Amino acid sequence: MHEAAIADELLQIIEAQAWEHGLTRVERVALRVGAMRMIVPELLKAAFEVMAVDTVAAGAALEIESVPLVARCGPCAREVAVVDHVFLCPTCGSALREIVSGKELDLMQLSGEGGPG
Ligand SMILES: [Zn+2]
Repeated sequence: MHEAAIADELLQIIEAQAWEHGLTRVERVALRVGAMRMIVPELLKAAFEVMAVDTVAAGAALEIESVPLVARCGPCAREVAVVDHVFLCPTCGSALREIVSGKELDLMQLSGEGGPG
């Protein structure tokens, strides 16, 4: 299960960040996930919920923002939304080789309790 590996990776990042910011409990996690990651948000949330049980992020709300897959056509210099893995420019038919967005797995925000005072 691919999402379990992502949840595991995510929890390691969260624990490091929580430590850094002095959070004793994480309540909300905002994540940006690119379409190329092939993540099903519901599965990631379910995996996260289970795996977070004994961590600082137990019971935390996971908010997932999906980032569409966009590639740039070299000859036309235009950006094209890639649907169904068709990496071809609709205008000139060239192969789209440069990915503009869609590979993200970024932790955008972490909030919770703790910190100095
Ligand atoms: Zn083109």
